[in-house]
Amino acid sequence: MLTSLEGKSVIVTGGSKGIGRGIATVFARQGAKVTITARGEEAMKKAASEIEGDVSYEICDVSDWDSVQAMVANVAAKQGGIDVMCANAGAFPQTKIVDMDPSEWDGVMATNLRSSFLCVKAAIPHFEKAGKGRVVLTSSITGPVTGFPGWAHYGASKSGQLGFLKTAAMELSRYNTTINAVMPGNIYTEGLQDLGQDYLDTMAASIPLKRLGAVEDIGNAALFFASDEAAYITGQQIVVDGGQIIPESLEAIEEI
Ligand code: NAP
Repeated sequence: MLTSLEGKSVIVTGGSKGIGRGIATVFARQGAKVTITARGEEAMKKAASEIEGDVSYEICDVSDWDSVQAMVANVAAKQGGIDVMCANAGAFPQTKIVDMDPSEWDGVMATNLRSSFLCVKAAIPHFEKAGKGRVVLTSSITGPVTGFPGWAHYGASKSGQLGFLKTAAMELSRYNTTINAVMPGNIYTEGLQDLGQDYLDTMAASIPLKRLGAVEDIGNAALFFASDEAAYITGQQIVVDGGQIIPESLEAIEEI
């Protein structure tokens, strides 16, 4: 049993759908005051009304500094501070390098990597004021551990988050704040469904636990990093993938 997060102010970027919604659900269940953020208001409204607990929303484009600053300031004013920042929002358009317009590369970097920096930067004054804080990044196995055609930009952005993490852990330590990353495998989300049933089926077959992850599987890992019990863990990452990166070959998975 982890120490309660009752009443803590938690921001979950990309909380209107998928993994972010799962993280928000897990924290709200623990009694946290959760603010979900995204660009689309309708999906956020729906998520905020459907998730049980204290959940509100703020519109924010995580790739834009002014937008992130305004969102963090609004949440801090409304909730009396920021205790936990879950920088989760991300995008994964699939385009091979040969076909990729440089603007697509820049867009993915801005949404997935620049956003981690902006969310941490905006939250620092609030962690400093509180004398403590927690950051949880949503990275991926794709990039840091594995590759997949069409995701060179995505993989680079997700590896970049882990590079950012190491130095951020050192700099945030002076504010008694930890930063860690969850590296999901294939999690059943709206974004993943867009890749088609064939993708979902072949992925599930390549995972030792024989299923895609649930969004709460990632929420539970984020909750641990945000807990008092994880106070001495910083600059680290955990793979949550049902064992997907373990098999050496197709034969190995068929042997199970
Ligand atoms: P998703 O279902 O497509 O949801 C993405 C969320 O991010 C939505 O709430 C979306 O809302 C928001 N978002 C996207 N661009 C944004 C922007 N510029 N500013 C603010 N919010 C933005 O995606 P997901 O599958 O849950 O993925 C969430 C995170 O997990 C990403 O970082 C992804 O890289 C990572 N991940 C996912 C998987 C997986 O299997 N699903 C695996 C590994 C890692 P709006 O579009 O309305 O802004």
